[in-house]
Amino acid sequence: MNLADIQAAVGLRTPIRHQLFIDGRFVDAESGETQATLNPHDNSVIAEVAMAGHTDVDKAVAAATKAFPAWSRMAAADRGRILLKLADLIEANAEELARLESLDTGHPLRDSRNLDVPRTAACFRYFGGMADKLQGDVVPVEVGFLNYLLREPLGVVGQVVPWNFPLMFTSWKMGPALAAGNTIVLKPAEITPLSTLKIAELMSEAGMPDGVVNIVPGLGSVAGQYIAEHPGIAKIAFTGSTATGRRIVQASAGNLKKVQLELGGKGANIVFDDANLLAAVNGSAWAIFHNQGQACIAGSRLVLHERIADEFLDKFITLAKSIKLGNPLDASTEMGPLTSRMHRDRVLAYVDVAREQGGEVLAGGKGPSASDLANGCYVEPTIVKARSFKDRVAQEEVFGPFVTVLTFKDDAEAMQIANSTDYGLGSGLWTRDLQRAHKMARDMHAGMVWINSYKRVNPGSPFGGVGQSGYGREMGFEAMREYTQVKSVWVNVDAQIPPWYPRA
Ligand code: NAD
Repeated sequence: MNLADIQAAVGLRTPIRHQLFIDGRFVDAESGETQATLNPHDNSVIAEVAMAGHTDVDKAVAAATKAFPAWSRMAAADRGRILLKLADLIEANAEELARLESLDTGHPLRDSRNLDVPRTAACFRYFGGMADKLQGDVVPVEVGFLNYLLREPLGVVGQVVPWNFPLMFTSWKMGPALAAGNTIVLKPAEITPLSTLKIAELMSEAGMPDGVVNIVPGLGSVAGQYIAEHPGIAKIAFTGSTATGRRIVQASAGNLKKVQLELGGKGANIVFDDANLLAAVNGSAWAIFHNQGQACIAGSRLVLHERIADEFLDKFITLAKSIKLGNPLDASTEMGPLTSRMHRDRVLAYVDVAREQGGEVLAGGKGPSASDLANGCYVEPTIVKARSFKDRVAQEEVFGPFVTVLTFKDDAEAMQIANSTDYGLGSGLWTRDLQRAHKMARDMHAGMVWINSYKRVNPGSPFGGVGQSGYGREMGFEAMREYTQVKSVWVNVDAQIPPWYPRA
């Protein structure tokens, strides 16, 4: 099928954008190189997407550099107005964006419609409103002096994002950076660039000046690496794997870029014996199976009190087996395919890893048998009971619909298990005991803790991790601080300074 036929078949009204977006225009890569982006439902080609090389990144950085003075000096409220208009346009194009995201990533349409699109609009709107709220400070210093602190944008910011929530990440990354007055060169993951390019189109419609936002789909080892190294870029904000995060830090050293890292996770989701079991079963299924488990904050370690473990698992396994797998564009689908074949194979390989270490597969562990899903990247909801919290499937991020079950005897053991990985991103716990809940939250090695829920995010609430999960925070005031630097200005109002060299 050609692109126009695909658009029509998927119910898209407007063209699928597949070129680079530089200085306000969609353009081919200088080299003419492209790479196909695939529909993970059947691995058919959706579009040939331009792949940026070094020259294209240089052009994007030049455009962003040129746009920076006017954008950073524009009244903050006017920058905010553009982001608010963008949020409105995202809502006006909600169905278009939802379908495009489901087509390119495999997100079930019900999630793209109810989560990805509204969250993207809400995040741009939050930072649109934030643009003129970030104030400087006055420091009470010596008499006769005024010392004020300016929060200034950094300049050109490089942003490199993964394929698991590409639409939402446009707002998490670009919202605060733009509100604070920076200009941007953003590289989406090579396998899911389509919704990001659509956002670029909507940005122009919202009145974003040319060059403020530049989108350069391309390979991580080429365009991504070059962005991390680029001397014209003041900061790199990265979301992705811990291994790539390390490479980014090394590459950034050339010009001592500021670095912000949102990396992997191995979320502990602890269910105590006094928990509301039905709520915990449902919430724990959502914690791991939403977006096919492809979430850094997924509750991928299910840690159960041994007294309720059997009853919990009965209900949990029944629920997992009932989850409806299917074409993401079917509105009744509850779980879609993984986003790429390579990743599906990687996830399935962990089933063998589990078995080799004595793990027991309680559900799933394979692709579905339905013939209409045979060409897609599907994996059934998979539940594995591990022998020890030290096993590889209890330590390494699988990033799929794969949950590792562990049991504990008391609170101390639950905490030991929770804090036993090098990661520290999101974790959850289910209990009716208030004191235990807050004590656990205090002691968990994590950037985010959910009590009697899991995976809540909000544009106002800081998001990020500790340890091997990275550093820096997205969203909230924290994000605005990440995208600004402080300048301290000293004014001698009427200070009488005795001469340093009295003889003069
Ligand atoms: P990845 O690190 O392979 O790729 C992420 C991005 O980095 C892609 O755009 C890729 O092209 C680019 N990239 C790859 N090599 C690069 C290099 N040498 N220099 C610069 N850029 C490079 O990660 P992935 O497997 O695509 O994504 C999944 C990972 O992302 C998981 O580990 C997950 O936990 C993590 N993640 C973290 C968060 C968070 O907020 N902490 C959110 C979502 C995903």
